[in-house]
Amino acid sequence: MASRLLFLLALLAMTCCCAVASDPSLLQDFCVADKMSQVNVNGFTCKDAKDVVAEDFFFSGLHVAANTNNKQGSVVTAANVAQIPGLNTMGISMVRIDYAPKGQNPPHTHPRATEILAGLVHFQFNYGTENAVALAALSSQNPGVITIANTVFGSEPSITDGILAKAFQVDKKTVNCIQSQF
Ligand code: MN
Repeated sequence: MASRLLFLLALLAMTCCCAVASDPSLLQDFCVADKMSQVNVNGFTCKDAKDVVAEDFFFSGLHVAANTNNKQGSVVTAANVAQIPGLNTMGISMVRIDYAPKGQNPPHTHPRATEILAGLVHFQFNYGTENAVALAALSSQNPGVITIANTVFGSEPSITDGILAKAFQVDKKTVNCIQSQF
């Protein structure tokens, strides 16, 4: 009986090890992206610490209003690892979104990040009357973007118009009309 209990306890001890086995924080203070490296990793390899310069952590441009004269009436200015190599492994980035009057940032998702949008109050009060700006923080150094309309109607090769017509409950002519925009 005692040996059975001991066996059970041993089994319990072996199976109930810690379930959270991630490494939540960085293993180093910084890992500036080495974009010349031929090594492929998840993100970028670290530049040699002795070659790191202050500019690796600096980006100027989020204060500059972009030209919103386009079909959507909006422009996204990104500040991610592509612009700031020092963001590598930091898990964060930012964007500035400029809106023309009645402009929109088309529906999209970020496959590698969640996003917090700031500046909505300013945006709402000014919507439709003058240019507006919003800032967003994203939980990835490289959030990526999937714009829904482009993905659905502008994919290459394209999704068959019959499938889209059925999915969106419109006729093929309407689907072809939208597809021709991309
Ligand atoms: Mn976004």
